[in-house]
Amino acid sequence: MKKRMPAIFFGHGNPMNALEDNPYSRGWASIGKVLPRPEAILCISAHWYVPGTSITANIAPPTIHDFGGFPEALYEMRYSAPGSAKLIQQVSDVLDFIPPALEHGWGLDHGAWSVLCHVFPDAEVPVVQLSIDRTRPAAFHYELGKKLAVLRDEGVLIMGSGNLVHNLHAYAWGKPDAKPFDWAQRFETQAKALMESGQHDTLLHYETLGSDAMLSIPTPEHFLPLAYVLGTQREGEKISFPIEGIEGGSVSMLTVQVG
Ligand code: ZN
Repeated sequence: MKKRMPAIFFGHGNPMNALEDNPYSRGWASIGKVLPRPEAILCISAHWYVPGTSITANIAPPTIHDFGGFPEALYEMRYSAPGSAKLIQQVSDVLDFIPPALEHGWGLDHGAWSVLCHVFPDAEVPVVQLSIDRTRPAAFHYELGKKLAVLRDEGVLIMGSGNLVHNLHAYAWGKPDAKPFDWAQRFETQAKALMESGQHDTLLHYETLGSDAMLSIPTPEHFLPLAYVLGTQREGEKISFPIEGIEGGSVSMLTVQVG
């Protein structure tokens, strides 16, 4: 039997992290050096938030530059990891009650590649993305994570990419070291405690947790990739936070690792 892979939620933050050498990009590189080499990566990114559950079907997925107003060098970035017919089949089998649509029009968005270019800079591990069905609540995404957990035993790295706290209205552009807002810090601390004590259900219903939570998660798309990763946690399995920090005052860069 293969060694079970961890599942990891990465706080991706600003797309410029793809090009920058900073504590986050260095942290991602360090994770890549200690992780067992996965056979493939299933990425759930905040930036593929659409009606329905789809899966990238390209064998050579294009690098998608899904943002505006950044330096030219960022648009020149390519992350040329292959797709994986095998992983597409595995995911289709596990989620056969949906089943996911095969999508040829999407590739790897910056939620995937701005992090993976540091974790696995050789871009040789195949990557498949799974969309987040925007019509469904957090509990649905958590249940998909539970189903997908078996793939960890097949050498698949399940990767969520979003941000636990993501409020761009309050974000200090160009000031990564801006003092974190009190509400952002309080909610991150609360969310970590809930994860450490296994109170996933409370966190999934964050909209009942008051104003700190609502300021931290004004829209769900950057939070939901975490629901998939938490869903993969097995009984008694440890959870850790290998990278921490709040960038620009209102974006949590917390990385959450299961296993
Ligand atoms: Zn994002």
